[in-house]
Amino acid sequence: MRLFEGTEFDRPPTCDQCGDLEQDCQCPPLPPERIPPEKQILRIQAEKRKKGKIVTVIRDADELDLSDLKVKLKNACGAGGTIKDATIEIQGDHVERIRRLLEEVGYRVK
Ligand SMILES: [Zn+2]
Repeated sequence: MRLFEGTEFDRPPTCDQCGDLEQDCQCPPLPPERIPPEKQILRIQAEKRKKGKIVTVIRDADELDLSDLKVKLKNACGAGGTIKDATIEIQGDHVERIRRLLEEVGYRVK
């Protein structure tokens, strides 16, 4: 006799969305869950690049937030920005402005 035989735990797994057995389910996969900003701790740092150019680098943001954040920060700073190796780079030194903006939308900033 199996451990849960005859109990409700013995039922085969069903889909949370359609209720069909998982083996019959045709639902599209759920989008990946986003981590809320208040659960993320971001690091911001101004760094010097080639030819003495300064960029503000934002690290440790969840990958799913990167493109939204980049757009927000670019607009707020009126500067160019790129995503590189899961970090966001904004042209120029905007550490204080970006720190305030990130905290306003709920991120924690180190
Ligand atoms: Zn389903």
